Amino acid sequence: MGRSIVEELHLLAKGLSGKVVQNVNSTFVGGGVAEILNRLTPLLNELEVDARWDVIKGDDRFFQVTKKFHNAIHGRSEDITAQDFDVFQETSRKNIQELQLVGDIMFIHDPQPIELVTRKREIGKKWLWRCHIDVSQPSPVVWDFLRPYVLQYDAAVFSAPSFSQVLPIPQFLISPSIDPLSDKNKELPNDTIDAVLHRYGIPRDKPIITQVSRFDYLKDPVGVIQAFRIVKRAIDCRLVLAGGTATDDPECEVVLAEVKEHANGDPDIHILLMPPSSDIEINALQRASTVILQKSIREGFGLTVSEALWKAKPVVASAVGGIPLQVQNKFTGLLSYGIEGTAFDLKQLLTNPEYAAQLGRNGREHVRQNFLITRHLKDYLLAFLMLGRSEEILYL
Ligand code: UDP
Repeated sequence: MGRSIVEELHLLAKGLSGKVVQNVNSTFVGGGVAEILNRLTPLLNELEVDARWDVIKGDDRFFQVTKKFHNAIHGRSEDITAQDFDVFQETSRKNIQELQLVGDIMFIHDPQPIELVTRKREIGKKWLWRCHIDVSQPSPVVWDFLRPYVLQYDAAVFSAPSFSQVLPIPQFLISPSIDPLSDKNKELPNDTIDAVLHRYGIPRDKPIITQVSRFDYLKDPVGVIQAFRIVKRAIDCRLVLAGGTATDDPECEVVLAEVKEHANGDPDIHILLMPPSSDIEINALQRASTVILQKSIREGFGLTVSEALWKAKPVVASAVGGIPLQVQNKFTGLLSYGIEGTAFDLKQLLTNPEYAAQLGRNGREHVRQNFLITRHLKDYLLAFLMLGRSEEILYL
């Protein structure tokens, strides 16, 4: 971190002296939201902001429903029943009763804990709703249900301009970030990278294409295998599909089984189920890859893209959600469309290493300028400070 940036962050943080910022989401482990909170909370504490992080509780039924909501907000067709809304409200009521709300600023992440805001009338405080999902074309059924809650917040935060909604409350545009000093992103010695590849039984005898993602339909792992098969007709290479689970994502096992079926025992397809806290391993896999793929069908932001670009890796990624903020086509990577298009782009990078390396270098610089955690901290601190100001300032 440059000295002036640190000084600036300290200065902003001073304005929050004596205030508690309480983050609430639905899982400590798995997925981008937990990844970010894991890094941001201690850094805010280092800046002497009293930032805390709690998660709501829910059983399987609740997380089945919230996964359906998640998919539907992303525009996927889901059969959502009246009973699903009842399950959501029942669990929300329990959390509203049980969770200690201690923040001067209540920072609520995504739809799962959204109903906590109903306590605002009783306890006051400032409430900020942070939507990490691509909400550009939400299912009206779910969005109409959530909207009355969103309206009770003092402001909302979205990751990309296209996610912004028509709302009578102020909105902040703040994209996510990666921490370059974390185990996930720091430089690694070659020995460590070799050891990880060896441990997972991945020979480094031919180019490696990697996608790192939860096993989720919206990450399209089966589409990845189909694209890989087309590439393999022309270029001998390996595919690594590395993914973990998230405690708030019940679909993983079904998707993983489907992925294994499609891989059909192909020894060049390495399907890795990573335990939580595999940050060094993910880092090593990304660094060992020739090309990184992110073939999402929908994507809030896709931290994995910034992680790859930061490692100066050439990236092929779908032009969805927050990905085009990171991959500027033919400058910081290639934006791909469909299975054939993805295969075409992968082949282009595998056969043109100089071009691939140039995209990777540009990508790293793009992340340095836009998606590192210092920028994110500054944006959040400014948003918190704005919330503490009078209503008139927020609506200026
Ligand atoms: N990740 C991980 N292990 C896995 C799969 C993913 O640590 O097996 C990390 C990945 O490196 C990234 C985050 O989880 O930091 C996923 O964030 P992203 O925004 O890409 O997707 P999300 O899961 O939030 O949809």
